[in-house]
Amino acid sequence: MPLLNSQYEAIMRSYAKRQARNRQEQEERLAHIYNLIPQLPSLEASLASLRADKVRAAIEGDTAAQEHLTQELDKLCNAREQLLSAHGYTLQDLSASYTCPDCHDTGYIGTEKCHCFLQAEIDLLYHQSHLNDVLKRENFHTFSYSWYDKADQDIMKRRVMEVQLFIEAFDKEFQNLFLMGDVGTGKTFLSNCIAKELMDTGHSVVYLTAFQLFQLLSKAVFGGKQPEEADRQAYPYIFDCDLLIIDDLGTELPNSFTVSQFFLCINERILRRKSTLISSNLNMNVLQSIYSERTSSRIISSYTILQLPGKDIRIRKKLQPGA
Ligand SMILES: [Zn+2]
Repeated sequence: MPLLNSQYEAIMRSYAKRQARNRQEQEERLAHIYNLIPQLPSLEASLASLRADKVRAAIEGDTAAQEHLTQELDKLCNAREQLLSAHGYTLQDLSASYTCPDCHDTGYIGTEKCHCFLQAEIDLLYHQSHLNDVLKRENFHTFSYSWYDKADQDIMKRRVMEVQLFIEAFDKEFQNLFLMGDVGTGKTFLSNCIAKELMDTGHSVVYLTAFQLFQLLSKAVFGGKQPEEADRQAYPYIFDCDLLIIDDLGTELPNSFTVSQFFLCINERILRRKSTLISSNLNMNVLQSIYSERTSSRIISSYTILQLPGKDIRIRKKLQPGA
């Protein structure tokens, strides 16, 4: 993976920042909880002292004392949990919190890079660091059926259900999605919902608008590289990330070379059994006339095509601030 030193350092700096931020948040949370529940610190001290007694009893082989101390510990643990829950907290709130629980925000699991590090590389290489902010706004929690006409809501509910099945089966079944619909029917929003769910479960996602993808594809020829070499060096992750999102197919300006590269890209991902999500406002006939018959037949045979209903919901969302 051709990361420059400066890029590697930038990623490691962001881990350091994340650790510092999480540590500070934890300290503030603890201070707040202790302030709210003043009896908690002495309860925690009693728990610590009982644990020490239990270790001592184990060393001395005093099983009766051990049993008694286990019961006492259980009692105190329950008391602590009840106390916390009476104030709307859980035990989890007392422990350190991590953005990535898998690597505790170090970027590594043992000597291997964590999935979050790989995603950080992708974000950096494809300038998609803004994606995290977008995904905070556009996800299943913020999705609303009220953006759609009454008649379209049922269709949309089915589409969302199909998308959720796609996510649930992601690790078990090889699938691709083609989201089709007019401008502003929520294709990008739904793509973002999928991206968020999969990134949250440790999958690598490359998000490119068709315009960006075709720019990359055309760079290969201008850079004098052969399509066969277009693998890791030229487009790291394009062929092997867990999900490649190609947003708004049809808005770019293709030429015969990029069209053949596009076929290579989606075909290669099918061969590698790596999922691709394409969104477009083009129908299959237009798709075939622009991107060739072999491309459209690959899509028809290997993608689940979901037609999104409705008219431009962006106008409606503007009329319903906070929707
Ligand atoms: Zn991680």
